[in-house]
Amino acid sequence: MEPMVFYVFMIVPFFVVAGLVFYGYSHIFFFLFSYLRPLSAERRKILEKFPYYRKLSLKQKHVFENRVQRFISLKEFIPKQMDEVTREMKVLISASAVQLTFGLPEVQLADFDKILIYPKKYFSRINRRYHTGEVNPRGFIVIAWDAFIEGYNNPTDGQNVGLHEMAHALSLENIKSNYEENIFDKEAYENWKKVTEDEFKKNKRGLKSFLRNYAFHDKEEFFPVCIEYFFERPEEFKEERPELYEALCRLLNQDPLKKTDRILKEAAIY
Ligand SMILES: [Zn+2]
Repeated sequence: MEPMVFYVFMIVPFFVVAGLVFYGYSHIFFFLFSYLRPLSAERRKILEKFPYYRKLSLKQKHVFENRVQRFISLKEFIPKQMDEVTREMKVLISASAVQLTFGLPEVQLADFDKILIYPKKYFSRINRRYHTGEVNPRGFIVIAWDAFIEGYNNPTDGQNVGLHEMAHALSLENIKSNYEENIFDKEAYENWKKVTEDEFKKNKRGLKSFLRNYAFHDKEEFFPVCIEYFFERPEEFKEERPELYEALCRLLNQDPLKKTDRILKEAAIY
């Protein structure tokens, strides 16, 4: 090989790759790699069970699949109190993260690289009660599989642990300083914070809310509980608190009450 040709075809790409890895942009490889390795037929078959995915157009389904594929390849799934994490667990748990963020430029929840899965609700020795899930700012998301399935099997009760935990992770990711910080549109986020304050004031004055009490447990719980109602009881949500509902539509760039066409048109998809 001519020295110049060798230089261009071997050395330059090597330094580009090394530079990207060094500066923490290794996710770009997963991003490119996913085009070489689309979601397998088995995984796609599992996705067909996922209600949100089923309602998408063909083009949107394709984007959704790619996002799920990348999410799976970026995470380490760890079985707890069981032997292995099944393919179904990986696909459906990843799909709940993609559902929540589908209107946004791709979000990988980069700071949460481990997903721990328990087969059933698990006992926490820290606060001595059973848990269905939790998000640890040190970088992991925990999900009880039976509770996760229950969440999607009861699609209108306003309880969905998958969406709830992903919402915790998303709001933490938004304020962490890494390549995914400031995920939300700045104005939409400021507006969301304002309507949240108003809602807490109403709650303090004793005004009854359609949201379950846990939403007002503290400021961290409010967003995840709203997310559960947003996807599971959107009609009621919009009727009871139109300004809060609209603020969430803006924040997530999707509206569960409207046709999903809007999602793809307005989302910044590579
Ligand atoms: Zn919570």
